[in-house]
Amino acid sequence: MPKRKGMTMRFDANDEANSPTSRTPEPRTGESRTGVTRRNLLGSAIVAGGAAALPLAHADAATTERTVDVLLIGGGIMSATLAVLLRELEPTWTIELVERLDKVADESSNGWNNAGTGHSALCELNYTPVNKADGKVEIAKAVEINEQFQVTRQFLSHQVDSGILGNPRSFINSTPHMNLVWGDANVAFLQKRHAALQASPLFSGMEYTTDPKQIAQWVPVMMEGRAPGTKLAATRSPLGTDCDWGEVTQQYIASLVKQQNFTLTTGHEVRELERETIGGKKARWRVTARDMKTDEKRIIKARFVFAGAGGGALPILQKSGIPEADDYAGFPVGGSFLVADKPEITHRHLAKVYGKAAVGSPPMSVPHLDTRFLDGKQALLFGPFATFSTKFLKEGSYFDLPASVTLDNFRPMMAVGWDEFELVEYLAGQLIMSDSDRMDALREYFPGAKDGDWRLWQAGQRVQIIKRDPEKGGVLRLGTEIVASKDGSIAALLGASPGASTAPSIMLNLLKTVFPNHLATAGWQAKIREIVPTYGVMLNENPDVLAEHWAATADTLQLAVPSPTVGVAAQPRPAAMRVKPDRSPDLAL
Ligand SMILES: Cc1cc2nc3c(=O)[nH]c(=O)nc-3n(C[C@H](O)[C@H](O)[C@H](O)COP(=O)(O)OP(=O)(O)OC[C@H]3O[C@@H](n4cnc5c(N)ncnc54)[C@H](O)[C@@H]3O)c2cc1C
Repeated sequence: MPKRKGMTMRFDANDEANSPTSRTPEPRTGESRTGVTRRNLLGSAIVAGGAAALPLAHADAATTERTVDVLLIGGGIMSATLAVLLRELEPTWTIELVERLDKVADESSNGWNNAGTGHSALCELNYTPVNKADGKVEIAKAVEINEQFQVTRQFLSHQVDSGILGNPRSFINSTPHMNLVWGDANVAFLQKRHAALQASPLFSGMEYTTDPKQIAQWVPVMMEGRAPGTKLAATRSPLGTDCDWGEVTQQYIASLVKQQNFTLTTGHEVRELERETIGGKKARWRVTARDMKTDEKRIIKARFVFAGAGGGALPILQKSGIPEADDYAGFPVGGSFLVADKPEITHRHLAKVYGKAAVGSPPMSVPHLDTRFLDGKQALLFGPFATFSTKFLKEGSYFDLPASVTLDNFRPMMAVGWDEFELVEYLAGQLIMSDSDRMDALREYFPGAKDGDWRLWQAGQRVQIIKRDPEKGGVLRLGTEIVASKDGSIAALLGASPGASTAPSIMLNLLKTVFPNHLATAGWQAKIREIVPTYGVMLNENPDVLAEHWAATADTLQLAVPSPTVGVAAQPRPAAMRVKPDRSPDLAL
């Protein structure tokens, strides 16, 4: 039976396949023709033992070759967001997106592989730490994340207005964001946090209560069967959302493949990256992708390469050989959720309710009971429970972690293992949890939960950043970081928090790093402001502008919850700018 090949959907006007300029580049200094560098020597040596047991690649595999302006590696929300952005900014640029799986949006961006919280710091307690010196709750990080989500709302609205995204109900739904905590210290913290957030219009309308009756009204299943007398506190913001980032990714790419100059190649994995030199000068990147089934080679030459490969971004960065990669290592942490789908359960809870993280746990392991809207249905998720695998992707290889160890990043990894012992202890505790331990953890939030109603679901992998540090040797970074070569010809996104929710801000920042000259032009500036009208404006300091754009995005995204206050009454948008009145009800309300 013939092997099924990966799919390529090509719509280029100027196909430069088999370009006469193709040439075999000279290896860079310190790099052998086998592609093994000093950088990946350690990992390669470890992996070589395992690889010897694997079947050999086809020696005579066919090769195709083409040249594009931009190569995007990975079909998740990050590459897709960059693609739609560049398509508007530079419609004539040729773009190819290469994805190793048969479909896009099947790793972390898939709706089932993440929690779908539209992160805007309404309920994520880790964004409002307590200042150890004065005991005050700091809100700067929360404001920053919320500002980024306002950019996301505007970006999504623009895509709806442009017809790139369809019915907003398919990817965003109003869902109150709440906190529920117990114990004196946590209750005191929540009260202080609520008071501190009142200073920002971005958090207006958030309510705080210690009254069990009020909490029972907001989230009945979380109070039924709860032992009386426990000191509780809750906050509730009606401004929250549940988002299906996989759906957004799919809709972006479905629209892109209909356009000229965009090529989607699935079922192909990027394995090698080299920089061509022409006349002694660095030229394009020469990237080799292999068909996952037939091992056929596909060479793509690109002026600019972006590795939006999720957990796979670090290995790509390392293969590029750029010195900036030497500062990084990765540590994979997965997540699993308990899921209930029975309507009699799911329809009794409408909120994303975040608790307080256990000591030592990473921020993405804060327990939460989450309303989700996936595949047109309402589900209830509880978790995440941290999981460990040496894979960097859910569909990755067990060799991912060992193969990423280099002479440069070995010491930072060891330093983090030593300094972050609480994290190691936390992970060890999570890994030995039994099914009944997980149900017990759920019952702290949903006391009446019954075993048979819940199933365990393995979500995505996140690769946390370990970065070389002159003082400590290495530090663990829990956010995201864009790592780019000095000349801006290649960039990768490492890390995954706050993640998909802030993809448009992350990609706008990427433009600053890799295309500073284009970004400074009047053309790009005007276009970006068409897409994100408040680009560069601090909404926290401009409540009237916030109110106006909140109303506009609520209108386009058909979100049922109006901004509760924010300064002025929102102005209705001109009729011509509104989306058609074909409203399906907001699933969340
Ligand atoms: C448990 C969990 C919960 C989360 N909860 C939230 C949340 O509530 N809200 C939120 O906003 N974010 C959340 N996130 C984070 C969010 O899912 C990620 O930030 C986001 O999906 C990352 O998108 P991406 O495009 O970078 O990566 P991905 O979606 O992982 O896409 C990367 C793609 O690259 C492909 N790829 C990798 N290597 C190669 C290669 N060599 N060649 C070709 N293709 C390659 C992969 O197959 C994959 O399709 C969560 C993540 C996890 C794991």
